[in-house]
Amino acid sequence: MQCLSEFLTLHGLSLEENPTTYRALKTLKHIPKGSTIITSPSLACFPIPSMINVRCNNCLEIPIEPLKTCSRCHKTFYCNVKCQKLAWSAHHKILCPIYKKEGNKTLDSDYMDEEMLRRIALRIEKYLKKKSYHETETVSLTGLNEKVNCETFLTLMSHREKRTPEQLEKFKSIAKNVFSDLDLQNITQDELITYLCRFSCNNFNLDDNQLFPFGEGTYSIGSLINHSCRPNAIMMYSIGQQTNSGSQILRSIENIKAGEEITISYIDVAMSRTSRQKLLNEKYFFKCQCPRCSSDNVSIDITEEERKVLVNIEQLTEMRNNREINEKIIKDLLISQMQQNSMTNDPISSIISNIIIKLLPQLTEETSRSDYIQTLEVLFNNIHTTITNQNFFTTSSLSSVTKHFYDRIDLQQWRESWILGRYILAIYLLIYPRFHPIIGLHLFSLAKCMWNDAYKDKDKIVESYEIIKAAKKTLEITHGDGFENRMIVTQVMDLATNMQTELTEIEKKK
Ligand SMILES: [Zn+2]
Ligand SMILES: [Zn+2]
Ligand SMILES: [Zn+2]
Repeated sequence: MQCLSEFLTLHGLSLEENPTTYRALKTLKHIPKGSTIITSPSLACFPIPSMINVRCNNCLEIPIEPLKTCSRCHKTFYCNVKCQKLAWSAHHKILCPIYKKEGNKTLDSDYMDEEMLRRIALRIEKYLKKKSYHETETVSLTGLNEKVNCETFLTLMSHREKRTPEQLEKFKSIAKNVFSDLDLQNITQDELITYLCRFSCNNFNLDDNQLFPFGEGTYSIGSLINHSCRPNAIMMYSIGQQTNSGSQILRSIENIKAGEEITISYIDVAMSRTSRQKLLNEKYFFKCQCPRCSSDNVSIDITEEERKVLVNIEQLTEMRNNREINEKIIKDLLISQMQQNSMTNDPISSIISNIIIKLLPQLTEETSRSDYIQTLEVLFNNIHTTITNQNFFTTSSLSSVTKHFYDRIDLQQWRESWILGRYILAIYLLIYPRFHPIIGLHLFSLAKCMWNDAYKDKDKIVESYEIIKAAKKTLEITHGDGFENRMIVTQVMDLATNMQTELTEIEKKK
C-alpha cells in the first residue's frame, strides 16, 4: 500500500513484510525513551457500557459540567453542543433512530461488537463512496488521512478461518442485524463478518491515566504493531481539551535503535508464560516467540545476561501458592515491619529492601539498558534461593497483597499501606519492564502513603522523596503526552515540591 508506507516514512517508521509475524513495524531512526513515536486517530472509539453516562460519547472526556443527553434517543451523552454536532454528522444521524427503535438493550460484549460494526461500516461506506475524491488526498505529518486509515483497516488480519462455528454464528447474526439496519451499498453482509473477526483480534481497550478501562476503539496504525512480553513501547490515550481527543499515543519506554522493531504488549506481562501463551493463542491466534517466551533457547539473539534475567522472571511468574500462604505473607510483613528493629532479621523484608535499594536508582539515574540488565542479573543471583524457597513472590500473592494495600489506604492506615506497598514495588520492579505505567502509578501511591505517615520524621521524608523522584521520571516517560495523562505528572511534581520544601525546612531548624 503506497500511501501507508508514505505516511509511515514521514514518521520515521517502516513496515516490513515478514513470513513469521506477517508484518513488523520498525523504526528508521533512533528513538529515545519517553518519546511519542506516533499519534493516530481512531476509526471508531466509544465508552464502555459502565462509562456511557460518565464520558462524552464523542471526545471521551469527563467534563466538569454535567453531560448533555441526545433529546431524541436519550442513549448518548455529550460534553457540549460541538461534540454532539460532530457525532451527529459522523454517525449519530443514522444511529439515533436505530437506538430509539431498539429500546432498552442489554449492554454486553455483543452490544460492543454491534456498535463497533455500525460505526466502522458507516465510515468505510462513506470512504468507499467517495474513493475517487480520497485518491487525491495528500499524505501529511499532521494527521492520518481517511484513505490510509480506511485502507489499512481493510488489510488487517481477521483469522476468520480459525474461528469456531459458534463464534462465526454469533458474528453472522450481528452482521445480519447491522446490514439490515444500515442500507449499505458498498459493503456486503459477508464482509461485515470479516470486520467482526478483525475487531476481535485487533481492537484496543482504552485505559485512563490510572490504567482503568473506559472505552473501546479500532486503530488501524496501532494494529500494525506486534506483541512482545518484554515490549519497548506502550499505548496511551489522548483524552480531553484538544482536537485529537480519542487518539492513540505510542510511547517508547526504552531507547529504541534504528532498525529495531517496535513492540507493545497485548496482555498483562505479570502473567505466567503458560497463561500468556494460552491467551495470545485464543484471542490473537499466534504463538509468542518474544525473547521472554524463548528465553530457554540459547540461540536467541540477546545477551547471555539478558537471557538469564528473562529465565528468572519466568520462574518468578510461574510460581504458585495458595491462599493461606498469601494471608501469611501479609501477616508476617506487617508484624515484622511494625516492630521496627526486627526489620533486618526477617528474610523477606531484607529481600524487599535489597531489591528496592538496587533497582530504584535505575529509574532515576541515567543508566543504560545493559547496566540495568546487569544489576538485575546480579540481584537475581543473590536472592534466587530465598525467593524460590520462601514460596513468596508469586503472581497470586501479588494480587492478594495489592487488594490489602488499597484497603489499608481506604482506612487511612498509612504505615500498614506503605509496608505492603513496598512489597508490591519490589515485585513490580522484578517483573515489569523498567519504565512501565503500572510502576510509575504505584510509586506515586506509595510515596503518598509514606508522606502521610512521615509527619516530621526526616528519614521517612527522605525515603518518600526518593520514591516520588522515581515516580516523576517513570511517569514523564509513560504519561508525558495527552491532557489527562499530563495531569498525573503535574500532581507528582507538586508532591515532590512539597516534600522538598519540608526537607529544606527541617534542615534549616537544625
Ligand atoms: Zn465531548
Ligand atoms: Zn440520539
Ligand atoms: Zn512472549
